[in-house]
Amino acid sequence: MTTRLRTLSAILATATLFAAGSAQAEYPERPINMVVPFAAGGPTDSVARSLAEAMRPSLGQTVVVENKGGAGGTIGTSQVARSAPDGYSVLLMHVGFSTAPSLYKNPGYDALKGFEPIGLVVDVPMTIIAREDFPPNNVAELKDYVLKNKEKVSLANAGVGAASHLCGTMLMDALGTELLTIPYKGTAPAMNDLLGKQVDLMCDQTTNTTQQIDAKKVKAYAVTSLKRVPTLPDLPTMDESGFKGFQVGIWHGMWVPKGTPKPVVDKLVKSLQTGLADPKFQERMRLLGASVLTADANPQALTAKVTQQVPQWAELFKKANVQPQ
Ligand code: ASP
Repeated sequence: MTTRLRTLSAILATATLFAAGSAQAEYPERPINMVVPFAAGGPTDSVARSLAEAMRPSLGQTVVVENKGGAGGTIGTSQVARSAPDGYSVLLMHVGFSTAPSLYKNPGYDALKGFEPIGLVVDVPMTIIAREDFPPNNVAELKDYVLKNKEKVSLANAGVGAASHLCGTMLMDALGTELLTIPYKGTAPAMNDLLGKQVDLMCDQTTNTTQQIDAKKVKAYAVTSLKRVPTLPDLPTMDESGFKGFQVGIWHGMWVPKGTPKPVVDKLVKSLQTGLADPKFQERMRLLGASVLTADANPQALTAKVTQQVPQWAELFKKANVQPQ
């Protein structure tokens, strides 16, 4: 190579490096799409919208929430798995992320290899609720009533693999009977039908039920955490209501498609951590009964969670003889 050529290629290499460096430094240059794989106005949506707001200042861009409900959250989740790995498609999903691989023959994504994890977000307890005029007034009466009227009682959920489906399945198991289950694209539309008295029962997250319980628009029986929820102090736990060990907590995480460049992932991790530390976000979550997982808002913690949960759920469903659909 002549000296001139060497100089020229050195200049070109520097220019390329500079271009790559500046492109990364500029991320995000446009609004980011945060996919919620459930209907608008529901529990995941309300976490997502508060978080989108809390992450905006550190990203310097708007985070737009896109609701893509259906099939227990697998439709929206697989949409993100197939999106360009450029940091503009972000998924906010919950425990269902790691149950779907054993509940669906083809969930449309690979929970262990299809994403770059950003971090854990919040943990949310659930509540067992009914339409406001449903006859039973406590968990013991509920069991009695349901056993006597099982062919009449309906249970709403957000599709196979959704939190409401998992909790509903545990509830039917605890009550000792199968019920007619009605799937929705999220528990927001399910809540509408519960308020409209078209469906009887639901197990749903406090992020969707607290307001309706406080306003006495639904009847509430119990929470699914082992300890009472501070914002719903009068509501007993399932555990204290005679269903020892009944516990469901819904962890949420954030992911981007596999192959998203590390600097972009790093920026999202930082922004998630900043967002979770925002006092307004924390207060909003507290009022909805959710715990903010500040210490686990990192890729390592989410990887550990999913790696542990995918085989654990597979084992559990196998034991319960639940066949993938
Ligand atoms: N999280 C879902 C929603 O936002 C409901 C569920 O998982 O049960 O509607």
